[in-house]
Amino acid sequence: MSRSDPSVAGGACKWCSRTKPTDLLATTRTWTFPIGSSYAIGYRTEMIIRRSLLLLAVCACIVPEAVLAQAQPNKHAKNVILFLADAGGIPTLNAASALGYGAPQKLYIQNWPHIGLSDTSTASQWVTDSAAGMTAIVTGKKTNNGVLSQSAESVRGEKDGAPLKTILEYAEEKGLSTGVMTNVNIADATPAACYSHVNSRAKFGDIFSQIFKPRFGDGVDVVFGIGRKPILASGQELGIDLEEMARSQQRPLYTSLAEIPANTRRPIAVLDTPIDLPEAARLAIKTLSKNPKGYFLMIEWDAHTDNPERGLNNVVAFDKLIREIASTVDLKETLLLFTADHSFDLRMRGGLRTDPVLKGLPEWQQTHDPKARIDLPVIRLEHGHTGEEVLATSQGPGSEMVNGFFPNTRLFEVMMSAFGWTADR
Ligand SMILES: [Zn+2]
Repeated sequence: MSRSDPSVAGGACKWCSRTKPTDLLATTRTWTFPIGSSYAIGYRTEMIIRRSLLLLAVCACIVPEAVLAQAQPNKHAKNVILFLADAGGIPTLNAASALGYGAPQKLYIQNWPHIGLSDTSTASQWVTDSAAGMTAIVTGKKTNNGVLSQSAESVRGEKDGAPLKTILEYAEEKGLSTGVMTNVNIADATPAACYSHVNSRAKFGDIFSQIFKPRFGDGVDVVFGIGRKPILASGQELGIDLEEMARSQQRPLYTSLAEIPANTRRPIAVLDTPIDLPEAARLAIKTLSKNPKGYFLMIEWDAHTDNPERGLNNVVAFDKLIREIASTVDLKETLLLFTADHSFDLRMRGGLRTDPVLKGLPEWQQTHDPKARIDLPVIRLEHGHTGEEVLATSQGPGSEMVNGFFPNTRLFEVMMSAFGWTADR
């Protein structure tokens, strides 16, 4: 475009009501800026300023929305995955990072954006077991040790309290798919608190049978874990053939993950051998993701450090699994929440940064009772739960609610709120 271009010089300007000057550079206009200075500028310069201001105004309207959309793409979560490191308190995470990576704070979950500290005390005691701890997380109500998703009126093994509706039951009621999985007994306290209501965590047969007597929806859809022998034996003591009960509902109890036919919508696998939890998690997420309404999934990986080598390596492996899952699910629509039901009495108490975390353990184990106190150069361990707060950390829609100190019951509210649900009164 040249200065003498007839389409530019002369005629009405499309940006303002003025008539275009025939000599675009010669015609000047005086602009007074807010800071008080006045400048004489040419018509073309004025048009550039006007167009730039217009562009800025348009961007001011559009860009923040785009940025906001990226930061908060969905108001609510479609899916929630609860990662539960059983007994994985902060001292255990600390030691696991040092064991796995030779440095503190190298676990994937230690880099999540939202963290809080969750009090794990029960309705009546300072130190919780897995039953009361998990009940609080999945029902929003504290109860007593040994009790699974029943109110605090329950007396362990003696008296029932009122059943407490779990986040899994809310999900079932609303038509979502649901799953529980663990590397330990699937009728043990942590998974059991999600799908059963009993006054004693020891009642494996009663607990497991409740999978087939759901209070909401069609009951938990994906069930992967171990403990086949003790669960079936406990059922027999009650006169219940759990395998037959499962078959009668067209939900056979598979003995391995490999045995599950492709595209089984509601698989139950209860193994007698160790389970490949990453493989189980991949299958569970693939299965649950088929529900367009979304899903709730609880994945437990035991982190008790009675055997410190096993416990700490479990944490490192669990963290790797969580990293893998976070890279495969859509974090714009999936809340990931990691926590522990309680802490454990393991501490890093000394040593150089160059010392292996488990320095001296093999020698110690050769000369001591495995249930005795462990006292090594780097770690010291008493075999028991402890009462200090545990880490809760999260990412995905609704994760910002995980913040500060709070009771473990808040984690139920975090998940309900992420889904956009309100608890029954
Ligand atoms: Zn526990």
